[in-house]
Amino acid sequence: MNKILLLAGWVVLYGCTGNTTDNTEGKIENVIVITTDGLRWQELFTGMDSAIAADSRFNQGRSDSAAIFEHYWATDPSGRRKKLFPFFWDSIVQTGQLYGNRHYNNKVDVANPYWFSYPGYNEIFTGYPDTAINSNEYMANPHTTVLEYINQQEGFKGRVAAFGAWGAFDRILNKERCGFPVVAAFSATGGEHPTPKEELINAMLKNSYKPYGQGECLDVFTHYAAMEYLKEKKPRVLFIGYGETDEWAHAGQYKDYLDAAKQVDTWIKEIWEYVQSTPEYKNKTALFITTDHGRGDVTKDQWTGHGSGGVADSHEMWMAVMGPGIPAKGEVKTAMQLYQKQSAQTIASLLGLHYQSNHPIAEEVREIKN
Ligand SMILES: [Zn+2]
Repeated sequence: MNKILLLAGWVVLYGCTGNTTDNTEGKIENVIVITTDGLRWQELFTGMDSAIAADSRFNQGRSDSAAIFEHYWATDPSGRRKKLFPFFWDSIVQTGQLYGNRHYNNKVDVANPYWFSYPGYNEIFTGYPDTAINSNEYMANPHTTVLEYINQQEGFKGRVAAFGAWGAFDRILNKERCGFPVVAAFSATGGEHPTPKEELINAMLKNSYKPYGQGECLDVFTHYAAMEYLKEKKPRVLFIGYGETDEWAHAGQYKDYLDAAKQVDTWIKEIWEYVQSTPEYKNKTALFITTDHGRGDVTKDQWTGHGSGGVADSHEMWMAVMGPGIPAKGEVKTAMQLYQKQSAQTIASLLGLHYQSNHPIAEEVREIKN
């Protein structure tokens, strides 16, 4: 009798555990799109690069390279990547999908010919690598982004918001026209009636250290402004654009680049844990995570830079997705070629929508569902 009860208990227990981690059931009603600017696929899939870490040029004024190795080094790539991106390699790999490990010929590329930020984010959000968009100073985006399209659909009106560390998101997403909140760089969050937390975020943002000038804030402000919005307003589609990975790479500071990358991983975990503990989001929310461009690697010095004008391999990138109904393929190791321009229709299709506009739109990543 006791043995049977014990067995029944185990079945119930096992059943419950199975349900909470099983992403194969449920319907996606919300999507959180996350980008981290210029984060290389090389670190995402193989962890810290010892050649860069050991090069004193890339650790100036910081600790010696011993500290980096202590934090991020392991002899095998799978151990290294887990140290740098524990959430990606413990959780996303278990329940979601990761694309872009070129060691398996699994390729994700930028389709626009420039390989820097505005053209990249335009490609992500419009599905159209418009060659006219050829500068980070380009005017307000003439194209309707997928976020703007979704915000016009029944059930999504007023339920879309965007938070970005980089001020150019105002133009990329066309803040003036788009009809949803875009909170970028040093703009205040919370509109006319900020919560006490938003008031504090705004005060700290205004008085914070500004290593990138007025054009971009530190990621910590963008993250907590977005989290507060998520908790208070419960948007159905939220975009969070982190920027420090790109900035510290341009500055040639490898430890700061790795620290920024690991921090983004920690924040994605925080977002996911909030989502899965909140009835409005639990088991009905997907994450779509990607980057705007790659960086150099073949010529090691060029890890700091990107752009088709001189960094030959900086078109190489990655994407990741997780959520209910998305098969748990983990790290996808089959040979294929995906493009950044497929992001926009993929974001729409996760919500069961078909994004339409008066410009060409690349098809979704069909491999996600098949
Ligand atoms: Zn850059």
